[in-house]
Amino acid sequence: MGEEILMNYIYGKWVQSSTGKFRDVPNPATAEILAKVPVSSLAELDEAVQLAHKAFQEWSKVPVTQRIQYLFKLKELLEANFEGLARCITEEHGKILDESRGEMRRAIENVEVACGTPSLMMGDVVEDIAPGIDEMMIRQPLGVAGIISPFNFPAMIAFWFIPYAVATGNTVVIKPSSRVPITMVRLFRLMEEAGFPAGVVNVVNGGSEIVNGILDHPLIKTISFVGSTEVAMHVYSRGTAHGKRVSAAGGAKNPVLILPDADVDTTTSIMMDSAFGCSGQRCLAASTAIMIGEADKIFIPKFAEAASKRVTGYGIKPEVQMGPVITPDDKKRIEGLIQQGLDEGAEMLVDGRNAIIPGYENGNFIKPTILTDTPVGGIIATTEVFGPVLGIMHCKTVEEAIKILNDGTYGNMGSIFTHDGSAARKFRNEADAGNIGINIGVAAPMAFFPFSGWKNSFFGDLHGQGKHAIEFFTQTKVIIERWPKNWTRKF
Ligand code: NAD
Repeated sequence: MGEEILMNYIYGKWVQSSTGKFRDVPNPATAEILAKVPVSSLAELDEAVQLAHKAFQEWSKVPVTQRIQYLFKLKELLEANFEGLARCITEEHGKILDESRGEMRRAIENVEVACGTPSLMMGDVVEDIAPGIDEMMIRQPLGVAGIISPFNFPAMIAFWFIPYAVATGNTVVIKPSSRVPITMVRLFRLMEEAGFPAGVVNVVNGGSEIVNGILDHPLIKTISFVGSTEVAMHVYSRGTAHGKRVSAAGGAKNPVLILPDADVDTTTSIMMDSAFGCSGQRCLAASTAIMIGEADKIFIPKFAEAASKRVTGYGIKPEVQMGPVITPDDKKRIEGLIQQGLDEGAEMLVDGRNAIIPGYENGNFIKPTILTDTPVGGIIATTEVFGPVLGIMHCKTVEEAIKILNDGTYGNMGSIFTHDGSAARKFRNEADAGNIGINIGVAAPMAFFPFSGWKNSFFGDLHGQGKHAIEFFTQTKVIIERWPKNWTRKF
């Protein structure tokens, strides 16, 4: 890829940040520096927002049927550049190529759904609410939308928002994660090629100063954030204090119940993909397995065997099943949490620490790790590890396991593996999580459903994707009108 100085994209032009401050963007598997990302200033953000606001005046008046033509074009360009984008994700993030392809597919699906915006943003009309009086509700865009994305999906998460924001007539300023900014630059080159008018989509790279600038800027009307819970709470409270509409998705800890009657091979394979896919750096990773009754005797040996066989390495190579974690600091943090778990009484089943991958000695590798007997309320059961670590607990009943899930502070996902329909139904009904899987390891909603986190996994009212996003990026206007044929009064 070669070391590249990344630029901001403002009002249809690529511009170099004038701060002279940059951060390296390393490949987490090789430690090679791929690019330098600017730490932009608040003045640069302000310029982007002012120009996005200017663009909004025209863009919001472009008929929706025209606005979506840019998305049709973008969809074509994303398909044509699919492999290159997937490779870029693998190089800067570390996930394996197939996972990067999956991420790109999910991003494209959001573009496809947003192409239906003429139908999705339709309002309502009731004729004759009183004699000769009609009432209608229409949806209008709000202005400049601020988007702040996390490192773990360099492409997809921004697409939970961008296509809907622009299709409904808003303009966008996005700050990508400075740990994985290259993919967004590649995506914006395609948006440029798709021909969006100047100022409709803008990128300003930077760190928390830019995030706070977005939260405070009076011309930014909506904030869409995805990241850790701590930052999500900060974003939600600071953004709403300024009267903005905020949707802030946070971290997760996702318990998965495994009943003794679950299909052994399928459950094992799905659980390994969920716990160790993207090296566990997924907000829907199955990070805690709760074995019900005799399930532990059946599944623990199977899990140990499958996890030990998983091939860890550079995700570009076809034989590799799991990549590195994002930074050396994260590797240290995750290994520290594993040790804390052991100190609290958990047992090591598969130890992935101190992994050395021949040829990639500088990569941030941890191999799949499984701890058993993780105490309820302990560090492994309650903290988002965000690494390839599966904690296993044991419960006698489904009720007991649901209580553990519901006592947790997060509510992103809960899953159950079983053949028992009544247990599955009880789980789906009683589990306090917004995304539920039944014999599913990663219950990621398709683009036409909301990405529906609860509790400390989400702050706000309307989630990303689908109809929620359409509602989020529009405000309703109600009009009551009367057109009498013969006015008695002359105007
Ligand atoms: P993060 O919270 O560190 O960063 C997210 C964004 O906020 C980045 O753009 C970052 O630059 C910015 N940021 C970081 N610290 C900040 C601060 N103090 N003030 C202002 N801005 C700040 O998250 P991350 O490590 O990039 O991503 C991983 C997290 O995201 C995990 O917790 C994961 O569960 C979560 N996540 C959640 C979902 C979901 O849908 N709930 C989806 C993906 C990721």
